[in-house]
Amino acid sequence: MLVAGEGKHDALLALVGEAPGKEETLQGRPFVGKAGKNLDTFLAITQICRATLYITNVVKFRPVRVSEKGTTANRTPNAEEIALFRPWLIEELQAVAPRVIVTLGNTPLRALTSAKAPIGAVHAEPLECAAGTLFPLYHPASVIYNRALWPVYEEDLRKLKAYLEGMDDPTLSSRNPS
Ligand code: URA
Repeated sequence: MLVAGEGKHDALLALVGEAPGKEETLQGRPFVGKAGKNLDTFLAITQICRATLYITNVVKFRPVRVSEKGTTANRTPNAEEIALFRPWLIEELQAVAPRVIVTLGNTPLRALTSAKAPIGAVHAEPLECAAGTLFPLYHPASVIYNRALWPVYEEDLRKLKAYLEGMDDPTLSSRNPS
């Protein structure tokens, strides 16, 4: 099943993840289940309301592999899968035209820019790309696997909040739904 982006179609902020997981595929919605819990932390620290966002993934289906235990496990999308979905991603971001696109992890960063640097080298540093202004963040799941990243991630979220508040668009600093 394909999981399309969801949210406000004139959202000021778009979040771009990697690909849906099991729960997202079952519910047909991005960032629900465990990933949705991670997103709640994002929303709490930045004081952004989910209803004001557009949320999507680069790849719209769940890439899987067979784990050592013989179960189905998530995997990172490969270059072919990313290339297949890139036009869809660009088109949806152009339609929503958010002021800021927050990329989560390496996959959306690679899909939207020609940057070769890993997320660890460019996190929380805004950059321009064809789809608009990007604010790259670590993928919240990587923070779960590597707890040492947690204070860095929290600090990045505070930087994002300050960045949004410093923008000239007054609607960005009143991000509650009307
Ligand atoms: N769920 C999503 O929808 N995207 C991710 O990147 C991870 C989990």
